[in-house]
Amino acid sequence: MPRIDPAQAQFQTHEVTNMPPALTDYDLFTSDRTLVEATSREGAGWAASELTSFGARLGRSETIELGFLANRNLPVLHTHDRFGNRRDEVEYHPSWHELMAISVGQGLHASPWSYPQPGAHVARAAGLFLLVQVEAGVMCPTTTTYAAVPALRQQPELAVQWEPMIHSRRYDPRFRPAAEKTGVLVSMGMTEKQGGTDLRTNTTRATPDDGAYRLVGHKWFFSIPMCDAFLVTAQAPGGLSCFLMPRWTPDGTVNGLRLQRLKDKLGNRANASSEVEFQNAWATLIGEEGRGIATIMEMVNHTRLDCAVGSAAQMRQAVAQAIHYTSHRQVFGGPLVDQPLMTAVLADLAIESEAATALVLRLARAFDQGETALRRLITPAIKYWTTKRAPAVAAEALEAFGGVGYIEECVMPRLYREAPLNSIWEGSGNVMCLDVLRALARSPQSATALLDELALARGGDARLDRHIAELEPALRTADKREVEARGLTERIVLALAGSLLVRFAPLAVADAFCASRLDGGWTGAFGTLPSGVATRAIVERAAPDQLAR
Ligand SMILES: Cc1cc2nc3c(=O)[nH]c(=O)nc-3n(C[C@H](O)[C@H](O)[C@H](O)COP(=O)(O)OP(=O)(O)OC[C@H]3O[C@@H](n4cnc5c(N)ncnc54)[C@H](O)[C@@H]3O)c2cc1C
Repeated sequence: MPRIDPAQAQFQTHEVTNMPPALTDYDLFTSDRTLVEATSREGAGWAASELTSFGARLGRSETIELGFLANRNLPVLHTHDRFGNRRDEVEYHPSWHELMAISVGQGLHASPWSYPQPGAHVARAAGLFLLVQVEAGVMCPTTTTYAAVPALRQQPELAVQWEPMIHSRRYDPRFRPAAEKTGVLVSMGMTEKQGGTDLRTNTTRATPDDGAYRLVGHKWFFSIPMCDAFLVTAQAPGGLSCFLMPRWTPDGTVNGLRLQRLKDKLGNRANASSEVEFQNAWATLIGEEGRGIATIMEMVNHTRLDCAVGSAAQMRQAVAQAIHYTSHRQVFGGPLVDQPLMTAVLADLAIESEAATALVLRLARAFDQGETALRRLITPAIKYWTTKRAPAVAAEALEAFGGVGYIEECVMPRLYREAPLNSIWEGSGNVMCLDVLRALARSPQSATALLDELALARGGDARLDRHIAELEPALRTADKREVEARGLTERIVLALAGSLLVRFAPLAVADAFCASRLDGGWTGAFGTLPSGVATRAIVERAAPDQLAR
């Protein structure tokens, strides 16, 4: 007990009571039963012990603090030095570098390529799922580096040169030529002012120059500009093409990337996103001239996986925080978590989170196992749905904190501001749903692969069986109307989530999902589960630690 000076005692106003402790010093992996089960089920049980140490490391209060620090001390762009020379460097707070070193040290930027083995994408997805819960900004360079590899491999001599540097687990933030560093990171630049979705409108020009190309133009969004190389799109003589643009040219001079300014973003603030001009920047072609979109799509497919994983992770963190807080907060003489309407809200959030976790790890397995037809359809569908649900989950979980949830010292505002991002980049919501239609139109095998997967749950729940039966003709019908794309995508994802939960989740979770999401009348608002659902059991399963009593 602190000793109170008797002279001061008369001025004591109150004791601080009923304020829950922060959720720290816990293992993010083992405390998440859904994640542990899904990781093992989808083929990465072998990674459990590594993920356990990683989860424990991330959950330490000092690691969690790094995320707060990196968001309080934002990156700064230095366009020029004090003498007026171009510098084009971004300075980050040490906490950002520490977080990046954790990510790279764990191999989240490359592990499935460095150590290809069954379950490698699932194990990595589970690791990313943990990292994002501590700070989502570092997902961007982690993801783009991981996703660049399959695109780079389309130009084997470039892959031979860059991959060994990418595989390194020694993060090296120095602004030096790639060959002088212990490890490198790769990002991408496609979006220009006149069009991000429609890349055909790119105006950046690429002119052949002595076996390489020189690029002149701009990119309106250019994240993590301190990466060592970028996959960029530009108009070559043969049409829109994909290039690898290093930060330094082969002759050891700084390449012509002129950083104009950093974006003042809603969230994702620890990560720097810039606007850039290419002033005769040196680059080499990847793939064929005129095939730029197809080439960079190899990268984009993997970044879409990560967007879905990242959003599922945000949902998990929001739910874990809300359950932890409400279990330590008393209202009207009892724990808030036990007030029936709050239990219902938390259970509904937990179901959403569990469904998202199951979906993204199943998707990662489709990457592992080369399930091309299934992957083609469910990647945009799951990216659409998880990124769409994350902001709703974040807002509802924030509300469970009451006023404290609205204050910046709490993690919830950061989660809330971060949440919409994954639905914008790498193809926004409508674009994902139109891609689902495209997949169904161009690849009838995709519908068959999905229906085969859904059939594995047949007979497990009558409401799911009915939902799938009604979905099947819609999947098989050609000539779908664009205005129906969101509705159809939602039904696809609910069917897949329902099938996974019916097959693998505890009965309470599967029943609540089917009763709310598949049995008609669902509005999407949280806390509207039908009566009879085992809300308490669902909340206990999702609790990151024992519910306080
Ligand atoms: C923080 C942040 C960082 C980013 N970093 C990068 C980066 O590093 N590199 C990079 O290349 N880009 C980056 N982006 C850009 C991002 O990928 C684009 O913003 C996104 O692709 C959308 O492009 P746009 O902004 O031009 O919007 P538009 O293409 O104008 O789209 C606007 C809206 O219209 C919808 N839409 C488009 N076409 C259709 C259609 N046919 N029917 C119906 N609706 C449609 C879209 O879904 C979207 O909602 C970043 C964006 C953000 C917010």
